Amino acid sequence: MNLEGYTLQLILKEIENGNLSPEDVNEFYHRRSADLNRVLNAYITLLDPEKSRPEGDLKGIAIAIKDNISTKGVRTTCASKMLENYIPPYDATAVSSLKKHGGSLLGKTNMDEFAMGSSGENSAFGPTRNPLNREYVTGGSSSGSAAAVAADMAPIALGSDTGGSVRAPASFTGIIGFKPSYGAVSRYGLIAYANSLEVIGILGKSVQDVSLLFKMIAGKDPMDSTSVNVELMEKNISKPRILVIKSFVELSADEVKKEFYSSIGKLESAGFEINYADKFSLTDYMLSAYYTIACAEASTNLSRYDGIRYGPKVESAGNWRDYISRARSFFGPEVKARIMMGTFILSAGYYETYYLRALQLRKIIKQEFEKIISGYDAVYVPTMPVLPWRIGNAIEDPKIAYAADVLTVLPNLTGSPAISLPVGKVREFFVGGQFIGLKDEDMKVLKVAEMAENVLQVKKSGRN
Ligand code: GLN
Repeated sequence: MNLEGYTLQLILKEIENGNLSPEDVNEFYHRRSADLNRVLNAYITLLDPEKSRPEGDLKGIAIAIKDNISTKGVRTTCASKMLENYIPPYDATAVSSLKKHGGSLLGKTNMDEFAMGSSGENSAFGPTRNPLNREYVTGGSSSGSAAAVAADMAPIALGSDTGGSVRAPASFTGIIGFKPSYGAVSRYGLIAYANSLEVIGILGKSVQDVSLLFKMIAGKDPMDSTSVNVELMEKNISKPRILVIKSFVELSADEVKKEFYSSIGKLESAGFEINYADKFSLTDYMLSAYYTIACAEASTNLSRYDGIRYGPKVESAGNWRDYISRARSFFGPEVKARIMMGTFILSAGYYETYYLRALQLRKIIKQEFEKIISGYDAVYVPTMPVLPWRIGNAIEDPKIAYAADVLTVLPNLTGSPAISLPVGKVREFFVGGQFIGLKDEDMKVLKVAEMAENVLQVKKSGRN
């Protein structure tokens, strides 16, 4: 049996029809994962298939989970030496929701350490390799979840998106990546990087697959006071009204731009209404606002890894300074750099100059976005301004990775839903395009994306 190219929906249908059993399915993904993981490094921990056959829509199908999402009794490392042996005593709400729907765990996927990165190169367990070309990055930080889905090592996966971490690797591996509205999915059990920006998201082979899983994990949770109930009714849209922000597209490399514009032509011929905005006046400030807020929140969140509350205990030379510096040496270089930047940004005298300004910027970025999108169903722009780069490049020059986030951070600043899908092809790689909507209108962007997926057919869903 070979399930290459199968969507989750097709698998469920085949189980329903009696052509597949959940055991066959889990056995296929487990075997293939064990095999391919040696080269792709998509999983940090691969679990043995469960024998029980739980009740529920997912029928026991095993799902890949990013390693910053807590799983009861299963090591959760955040791809960091700091949490190398951490075993959470509870499940994240998103994980318990999947289990309630009959889902099980396939394994925990590789990522940039503490979700800080855009390429999957910042993992303490080594980079994830792109299934489309193993010398190239997968995109990050949900690198392992994307590689696993793209290489048929998992039917579907959970990731997290703070500034693009679900959409970037989806774009670089040619799959679907959905970042729900802020708060639409509970963050309880998601190990924090930058709380005010992040959300658990889904990586899959079709928009319908992603939609199916989203409805299972969405909803207000008493354990996360920022969570909300978003409308989950299917939307009916006959002629999507789309707004393309030209100043975003112009930030992209020529080959990305060309494929992206050609996708617009196809959508227009299929009846999409395409409109253009010349510019988003705050384009130049999005990255600075994002990185200022993200680093500030990271420095606060990561202060708990001090070898006392969390993190390995270390030998002490007897004084606090020495203890802390040894305890914090388990962080990798990117994490250390961000903690230092964040601490600086929040320090007396600089707080007003940097942090408060970034918060003000975020507010006006949100206002401008709400203004520009009014009257349209979604904004449509490329997901990544560049194609995947060779493994190692962003380690030599971290600015490459920061700059690559320029088109993905907007929805995190505004709390909007955004979904990336393959819209073009360059050599062995795909070009991703993303539809961004108004906060809490998740079902609308999912519908628009599904319609676009049907028109563009860049990668056929179901059996390839
Ligand atoms: N690349 C961005 C960062 O490094 C986004 C990461 C993410 O979404 N977790 O902060």
